[in-house]
Amino acid sequence: MCGIAGVFEVEGATGLIASILFAIQHRGQESCGAAAKDTSGRILLHKGMGLVKQVLDEEVQARLPGRSAIGHVRYPTAGRSDVLNSQPHVIELAQGPIMAIASNGDLINYGELRALLEREGVVFKSDNDAELIGRMIAMYHVRERLGIEDAIARVQRELKGAFSTVLMFRDCLYAFRDPHGFRPFVMGHLSYTGSGEPPSEGTVFASEDCGFGIIGARRLREVKPGEILRLEKGRPVVSVARAPLQLRHCVFELIYFSRPDSIVFEEPVWQARQRIGACIAAKDAALPNGDDLVAMPVPDSSNFIALGYAKAKGAEFGMGLLRNHYVGRTFIKPTQASRDEGVKQKFNPLPGYFPGKRVVLIDDSVVRGTSLRKLVSMLRRAGAKEVHVRIGSPKVIGRCFYGIDTPTAGELIANRMSEEEIRAYLGADSIRWLETADFERLLPGRRQDFCTACFDLNYMYPPEDFAAKANIPAARQAPAPAACVS
Ligand code: SF4
Repeated sequence: MCGIAGVFEVEGATGLIASILFAIQHRGQESCGAAAKDTSGRILLHKGMGLVKQVLDEEVQARLPGRSAIGHVRYPTAGRSDVLNSQPHVIELAQGPIMAIASNGDLINYGELRALLEREGVVFKSDNDAELIGRMIAMYHVRERLGIEDAIARVQRELKGAFSTVLMFRDCLYAFRDPHGFRPFVMGHLSYTGSGEPPSEGTVFASEDCGFGIIGARRLREVKPGEILRLEKGRPVVSVARAPLQLRHCVFELIYFSRPDSIVFEEPVWQARQRIGACIAAKDAALPNGDDLVAMPVPDSSNFIALGYAKAKGAEFGMGLLRNHYVGRTFIKPTQASRDEGVKQKFNPLPGYFPGKRVVLIDDSVVRGTSLRKLVSMLRRAGAKEVHVRIGSPKVIGRCFYGIDTPTAGELIANRMSEEEIRAYLGADSIRWLETADFERLLPGRRQDFCTACFDLNYMYPPEDFAAKANIPAARQAPAPAACVS
């Protein structure tokens, strides 16, 4: 999972990119970067390992002046964990840097396409999808003399998988998205009257529109699945909207990944989560309500699921677990030991809150179960009378190949244990999941537009394609241990 941002024709573009990336930092914390086009048309780049506030500080922003820029926060799902694989990538040809590109998603046929380009003599600097996309566009544009838009359209047809992409040239900017719409991607409008700058207005892009509020931009709409947008100075935005293929919005964005203050796939995320909580509560009649019952989220991603559950159940909503916000997401830590340590550092129970309480502990998903097990035992030690676990997604039984890093099928607890074994392993009094059939009710009339493959194995592309046919290089099949693999 990653996040992207783009700004076109607004003064102080790199500073705006840094602000958007800061707002979507939850989409990737390993590395980040920005590329800007200065007044002479040069493309300048800065990227590094670490968080936005550290990598894209004010001194860096001053070194990347201009009115157009793109940026990226990375959370690696494939490829090494190093600065070469951070984004944006600047693609250079004989005449110098011609484009900067940043993309969010994962390609199924990366290996196959990269081998094809290497046979044509193309040299890669990274093993990153965005570089491949950029080099394919450059090849079709330079060698086959296709116009940029036609080159993008051809690449869009040849790529299999998820890609929400911003592409900046010296004189224009493109935004395009895979025809299935796997990852979110939105466009906004910004009237900027920053201090000391002449007022200007322009167009902004982000993985999530929670990135717009921070810069005062207004959400316009999604970049449509399959669409190519061209932005040129002094001209209206041109949209080449192609017929989307079978839509496959990632349902996990609504359940866990996106920020609750974003509108993703036209759904306010906080509302989608409350509906999930209400749906679980509606089927939970076996657990009687009472003054001692408290619905409690594993903060923060489950807050709205727990709120929906509490409201529907008529139970108290309790924030009995405090989260330290300076600890990152535990499921993207590289080793089990660091994940365990992360749980201890991240959560602490409120003193005196739990004795005599029956707790419904609500989490967004259970993957390996190790973090949840530690939390259940933490609540019992804090005095909880009973701990009932409720999960805001169905059982995770398959890997994601479209940009979210999940463990191999063999590591997933739902593939290793029965429900009763999982309950016992977690140390819970009872456990209940959302069911895949519930998506019909949660996404009325839209169920077929969502990918739920990690819950039902209904993959857009056949899983046997992923490694064997795609000829994925070893480095991508097994990311280096230092990578943030869950
Ligand atoms: S497999 Fe799961 S995580 Fe991946 S895109 Fe589909 S729903 Fe999202």
